[in-house]
Amino acid sequence: MRLLTDFHTHTIYSRHNHGKGTIRENVESALAKGLKELWITDHGPGHFWYGIKRDKFPEVRAQIDELNKEFEGQIKIFFGVEANVMSYSGDIDINEADRKYLDGANVGFHYGVIPKNLSSFFYFMIANTLAKVIKPMRNWIKQKNTDALIEVVKKHDIKIVTHPGDKVDVDILRLAKVCETRGTALEINSSHANMNEDDIREALKTNVLVSVGSDAHSPRKIGNFEEAYRRIENTGVTTDRIINLKE
Ligand SMILES: [Zn+2]
Ligand SMILES: [Zn+2]
Repeated sequence: MRLLTDFHTHTIYSRHNHGKGTIRENVESALAKGLKELWITDHGPGHFWYGIKRDKFPEVRAQIDELNKEFEGQIKIFFGVEANVMSYSGDIDINEADRKYLDGANVGFHYGVIPKNLSSFFYFMIANTLAKVIKPMRNWIKQKNTDALIEVVKKHDIKIVTHPGDKVDVDILRLAKVCETRGTALEINSSHANMNEDDIREALKTNVLVSVGSDAHSPRKIGNFEEAYRRIENTGVTTDRIINLKE
């Protein structure tokens, strides 16, 4: 199995030195590693510290268009985003105007996001924290987190849910059932432990698609799939599910 697409990479547009490389440096690293497709997916603008500034979308689009011309026939570059869950009722930090610039949008839970309303703040920040010590809360908030992602996937066109189960607990089977109907992939992320092998086995009970991403925050980590690949092998994910292997 040779994965020639990296669906999840960050650049300096993930601010405050969170992403280390320029778009060009990411592209050059991807080329050096023999990749054929590269997605630039910086954190969405709702992340108050790392998020891409909304007014940079045209600039990034233009750079990617230029690089696609320069490297035509060698690699294809796509402009994506790692959008943030902004509420427990399905809000994200990407709007229709942003979509004009984008080739696709992924979404994931991240800290550093200020939820849109008080109840979402309570679920995301307070309940998830309390549940770490108060065991009876754990399944309740896990199902709330899952409901939030399900609302997002139902309301928006989402290509990939990034690192589901990282940051906050998620019921992977319930999420996978909805993602299957929407054509949204669940990510096996080389830089994050979740989805872990148990999660992947849950997902495999459905026909959901999976994507493999390096989640590289520096150019040298682009195409680092080893850690994800180990989980894929251990759980028996078949190649027909892996969107990196589809046209
Ligand atoms: Zn992330
Ligand atoms: Zn990421």
